[in-house]
Amino acid sequence: MALMTGEQYKQSLNDGRAVYIDGEKVNNVAEHPAFKPIVEAKARMYDLNHDPALKDICTTTLSDGEEICRAYQLPKTKDDLQAIRKYVETVLDDLDGVVYRVGDETIGEMWSLYDAQDQLNAIDPKYAKNIAHHIDRIAREDLFHVSANTDPKGDRSELIAGKGGAKLLHVVEENEAGIVVNGAKFETAAAYAHQAFVKPTISNWGHGEEEMKKFALGFICDMGSPGLKHICRSSLGKDRDEKNYPLSTRFDEIDTLLVFDNVFIPWENVLFYNSLESAQYIRNTLHRYSSFNYVLRLLRRADLLLGTALLNVEQTGLTSLPAVKEKIADLIIYRETIHSHLTTAVVDAETSPGDLAMPKQSTLYAGRVYALKHFPAMAHLTRELVGGQLAVTPDADNFDHPDVKAYLDKYYSLGEWKSEDRTKLLYFARDLLNSSYAGHKVTFELFAQSPPFAQYLATFSNFDLEKNRKMVRKAANLSNNHKEMV
Ligand SMILES: Cc1cc2nc3c(=O)[nH]c(=O)nc-3n(C[C@H](O)[C@H](O)[C@H](O)COP(=O)(O)OP(=O)(O)OC[C@H]3O[C@@H](n4cnc5c(N)ncnc54)[C@H](O)[C@@H]3O)c2cc1C
Repeated sequence: MALMTGEQYKQSLNDGRAVYIDGEKVNNVAEHPAFKPIVEAKARMYDLNHDPALKDICTTTLSDGEEICRAYQLPKTKDDLQAIRKYVETVLDDLDGVVYRVGDETIGEMWSLYDAQDQLNAIDPKYAKNIAHHIDRIAREDLFHVSANTDPKGDRSELIAGKGGAKLLHVVEENEAGIVVNGAKFETAAAYAHQAFVKPTISNWGHGEEEMKKFALGFICDMGSPGLKHICRSSLGKDRDEKNYPLSTRFDEIDTLLVFDNVFIPWENVLFYNSLESAQYIRNTLHRYSSFNYVLRLLRRADLLLGTALLNVEQTGLTSLPAVKEKIADLIIYRETIHSHLTTAVVDAETSPGDLAMPKQSTLYAGRVYALKHFPAMAHLTRELVGGQLAVTPDADNFDHPDVKAYLDKYYSLGEWKSEDRTKLLYFARDLLNSSYAGHKVTFELFAQSPPFAQYLATFSNFDLEKNRKMVRKAANLSNNHKEMV
């Protein structure tokens, strides 16, 4: 196999997959207006890997010389982590927007499971073999791989047994060739990806009862599998034009309710099954690597907020006011703090149980919470600095109408900032801060890796508290007779 081109990627999506949106069945995802822009963005990423000028950044080789995308190489050193960062930043620079679930972020979840090969071997050696095989296969076949964790929950009492049967994704049949599964997951990008790592949702798996075992499974699922139904939410950019909505028309990452209606999964794609221990393990470690790539996107969002606020206040000369400088400084502090977490997580990288280079976990998880918690306030600060024109500016077409063009040019020109550039900046700011796409992204960021309580728990569980206990015990001259919090 070899690195895919954008064209090959687009053609590969035309595999008969069952995709539904706005009440219609989609014939070819790559050509459908709701999916076309984001498919083009992903195709562009595939093409970047073939650009000779970017070869060293976007690609690398396996030990046998096979050329693969940089994002798919298991990180063995701090330099590998740094190279992944450079790759992500290069892609986002090229696209001029922020895309999240485009492969590099989701592959890390497979690396977390790779770290558990000893445990998988103890359950059944075929599972350890399968995870190693799939990590290699994704890289060699250059597959676009996504992540399916969250089952639609609704009435909790019906999750494992209810009137219509259990709702959580589970095995309904097991035979020599594989397993058959039923259930559903929410999954961004599923409709235009090749495959997903499907795994248990957040639950108390560690204390699960015997009856929970059939839900404790992880597997690779081909997104064109018979019985799989992609039921998608409407596009936020489809009926809009690029001048007025420069982000939503290019970067809307469509979310899917993925229904598994008796989907067959061959044994070679099963990564664990009937294992509460594996379910608990994967939930505890899921974002060990992927949150690095996720926080990189939040850094880019922070950069866009800062640049947008700055250009808006510079047009009007407001940057000379100390109060405005202070607000811009807040945006700089936000940006620089996220950057520092990412940098330190690599400098202090740890060795994982599978001998990989793992970003320093406590720093990375603290950075993720910091970036997410402060994003709404930083977006609001940017909104404040841009001013009310963000919400009241007439759309671009009006600027071409002979009756009103002169008025609009008059009221939207300011010194060397002519109305065309001023409105371009305002439309960009509107799509970053005020459109339905902007609102959707805030919710995406809040939940897409896991809900906030789980992110706080990850921070708590990955920090070495003992040093602080010891420090204060010694400084306050305490005895050692206190129970530790669990
Ligand atoms: C835009 C978007 C894209 C998404 N993309 C994906 C994807 O690609 N793949 C995927 O698998 N999932 C995806 N998700 C789903 C996402 O992972 C879940 O929304 C998230 O994990 C929360 O689960 P839930 O929505 O079922 O909420 P619930 O589990 O119902 O939780 C709702 C709220 O209840 C509270 N709560 C629930 N349980 C507890 C607890 N034990 N302790 C304390 N408080 C609790 C919290 O306040 C929590 O935020 C996406 C979600 C969104 C919004």
